[in-house]
Amino acid sequence: MTTPIWLDPSPPARPALAGDQRCDVLVIGAGLCGSSAALSLAGQGLDVILVEADRVSGQASGRNAGFILQGTAERYDRAVGLLGAERARRIHAFSLDNHDKIAAFVEREGLDCAYRRGGSLQLAGSPREEEELVTSAELLRAHGFQAELCQGEALPAVYRDAGFRVGVILPRDGEVHPARLVQGIADAAVARGARLYEGTPITHLDASVPGDVRAATPGGTIQAGLALVCVNARAGQLLPFFADKVDPVRGQMLATAPAPRIFDRPVYADHGYDYWRQDHLGRVVLGGWRNLDPGAEVGLDDVLHDGIQDRMTHFLHRFAALRDVPVTHRWSGTMGFSRDGLPLVGAAPGTPGALAAVGFTGHGFGFAFLAGQALAQVATEGSHPLATELSPRRLA
Ligand SMILES: Cc1cc2nc3c(=O)[nH]c(=O)nc-3n(C[C@H](O)[C@H](O)[C@H](O)COP(=O)(O)OP(=O)(O)OC[C@H]3O[C@@H](n4cnc5c(N)ncnc54)[C@H](O)[C@@H]3O)c2cc1C
Repeated sequence: MTTPIWLDPSPPARPALAGDQRCDVLVIGAGLCGSSAALSLAGQGLDVILVEADRVSGQASGRNAGFILQGTAERYDRAVGLLGAERARRIHAFSLDNHDKIAAFVEREGLDCAYRRGGSLQLAGSPREEEELVTSAELLRAHGFQAELCQGEALPAVYRDAGFRVGVILPRDGEVHPARLVQGIADAAVARGARLYEGTPITHLDASVPGDVRAATPGGTIQAGLALVCVNARAGQLLPFFADKVDPVRGQMLATAPAPRIFDRPVYADHGYDYWRQDHLGRVVLGGWRNLDPGAEVGLDDVLHDGIQDRMTHFLHRFAALRDVPVTHRWSGTMGFSRDGLPLVGAAPGTPGALAAVGFTGHGFGFAFLAGQALAQVATEGSHPLATELSPRRLA
C-alpha cells in the first residue's frame, strides 16, 4: 500500500469492533463525509456508531491534495453549460457554504490542521483554455461570486516562466492538511459520544427494513435504526443502486521535501487535471495527469502508474527552484466518479433503511462536510436543501 505524506506518520489505531452492538444511526466510512455526519448526529445527542474499514481518512480523504475548492469538478463555464445558470449557481453556492462550515469548525475546535483560506489559482494550459478561463471568470462574477483575472505582469513570474499566460484567482478557496482535518472531525464526534471502530469493514448490509438495519463485520454485528453510507467509491459494494452510478477512478500524487516557497496558493491547470501547492512546511504536493492514461487509472487498487509519476516529476522540474528538491512520497488514491459528475446525496432508491452521500467526483472537499451534515439533517428532520438538489433519484 502506498503512503501519502498526510498519513506519515498516522495516529495510533483505534480498536476494531468486537461483539454485537446496537445504535440509533450507523455511519459507514470515516472519510470527510462520514466523519461530518457522525459529528452532526452525535452533537444532537443521537447514539452513533462510526465504522471505518481502514483508518480514519485512510482513503481519498487522506490521499488528496488538500485543496478546498468551490464548485463541481467542471470549471464554472462548463458547469453552466451542463446544468443551466440557475442550477450551476445554486450548486456552486453550496460548495462555498461547505467551505464556510469547515472554516467555522476549525476555528471553533481550535484544530491544528494547517488550514488557510488564501484563494486558489486556475491556470490555462492552451489558448482555448485561456478563453474558457476568461468566460468562466466573467460568469462567476455575473452570478455574484468572486474571481480575479491575472494576465501579463499580473500573473506571478513563476508561472510565466513555466509557460503559462492566463490565470484566474478564486479568493474564497483554501487549503488544509486533509488527514488532520478529518481526524479532528472524527475526534470531535467521539468527544460527543460517537463510538468509532477502525479496521472494521461492513461486509454485509441489510437496509431493506426501515428502522431495523442489520450490518455484519468480521468482529460482530450492528443493529441500527438507520445507516448512512459514506463510502465514496465503494458505494456499489453496499448499495446495489450505486453499482452502475459511481465508478472508482485512481489519482496519482507525489510530495517533495521542504522547498523554497514559490507557490502561494493551490494551483490547478489543464481543466483541473493537474494540480499542486506548497503546504505549510514548504513541501510541494502535486497530483493529476490522469488524462495521460484514463483507461488504466480506474479501479480500487492502490498502485503507482510509473508513466504518470514520471511525467509529474518532469513537470516539477519546469520550476528551476525545484530541480534539486527530492521527492519523498509517491502515492495513489481512489475517487468516486458519479455518472453525471455531481455528488449523490440523500435516500438510496430501493433501500429505505439507508441514506447515502457518495460520488464526489474528485472535488469532495468542496462538498463532503456539508453533505455529511445534510445526511444527518435528512435523518433527523426528513430533508435538507443539498439532498433535494443532489438526490440520487435523478439517476434512477
Ligand atoms: C489523488 C486524489 C486527489 C484529490 N484531490 C482533491 C482535492 O485536492 N480537493 C478535493 O476537494 N478533492 C480531492 N480529491 C477527492 C476527495 O479526496 C474525495 O472526494 C473526498 O475525500 C471524499 O470523501 P468521502 O468521505 O466521501 O470518501 P473517503 O475519504 O474515500 O471515505 C470513505 C471511507 O469509507 C471507507 N469504507 C469503504 N467501504 C467500507 C465498508 N464496507 N465498511 C466500512 N468502511 C468502508 C473507506 O475505507 C474510506 O475511508 C482527491 C482524491 C484523490 C484520490
